[in-house]
Amino acid sequence: MANRTGKTVDPRRMERILALLDEHYPESETALSHENPVQLLVATILSAQCTDARVNLVTPALFRKYPDARAFARANLRELEALIRSTGFFRSKARNIRECCRKLVEDFAGEVPPRLEDLITLPGVGRKTANVVLGSCFGIPGITVDTHVGRVSRRLGLTRHEDPVKVEFDLMKLVPESRWSSFSLQLILHGRRICISRRPLCEACFLRDLCPYSALILQGKVGPRPRKPALSAAKTAPPRRTV
Ligand code: SF4
Repeated sequence: MANRTGKTVDPRRMERILALLDEHYPESETALSHENPVQLLVATILSAQCTDARVNLVTPALFRKYPDARAFARANLRELEALIRSTGFFRSKARNIRECCRKLVEDFAGEVPPRLEDLITLPGVGRKTANVVLGSCFGIPGITVDTHVGRVSRRLGLTRHEDPVKVEFDLMKLVPESRWSSFSLQLILHGRRICISRRPLCEACFLRDLCPYSALILQGKVGPRPRKPALSAAKTAPPRRTV
C-alpha cells in the first residue's frame, strides 16, 4: 500500500494502527453538541481555534435564540457576536455564520446540502468542516484534516505532506472508506491527548511500536524531548522534613 509520497505503508502496520485506535478511542462521534445539520455546521465554524468544550458552553443559548438557518440569516451581527465572543475570532465567525446561513436560505431552502461540492461553496466552510458535517449528519465518509490529523499522520509516516488536501488524499488511500470519519475523529483525540504538538507523550503512547517518529524523538534526534507521563502526587511530592 503506497501513499502519494511513493512510500510504502505496510498494510499490516496500518491494520494494527486502526485496531489500536478503535480499542483506545471507541467513542468516534463528534464532541460538538447538536441536534441537526445546521447546528453542527454552526458549531463546527465556532470550533476553529477553540475547544469543543468551550463551544458546547456557548451553543445552548445560541441555538435557543437562533433555532434555524433563517433565524441566523436575519441575525443582528452585534448580538450574534456577543453570544459567541468567548470562542475567539468572534467577529469573523459571526460574519461567516450569518453569510453561510443566508446562502443556505437562498440556495438550499434553509437546509444543509449533503454534498461536499455544495458545502464548500458556503462562507466559512472548507473541506474540514464539510467532512465533519457529512460524516456526522449524513453518514457520508470523509477524512477531516485539521492540525492534529496532519501532525499525527506525518509522525506515523502515513504522509509527508503539509497541505491538508494532500494529506486527505494520502489517508484516503490508506484507510478503508467506511472508516474515514471515525479515523479522523480518533486522530484528533490522539493529537489532543497524547501526540501533542510540542511534547508528544511517546513513552505513554500505545502506537509507539508502530511509529517511526517515536524512535527518533525518544533518542532526541528530532523535536523536543518527550515528556514522561505524569507521576502520581505521592511519587512527585518532596520528602517530608523530620524535625
Ligand atoms: S509514538 Fe509519539 S510521535 Fe508516534 S504517535 Fe505516539 S506520541 Fe505521536
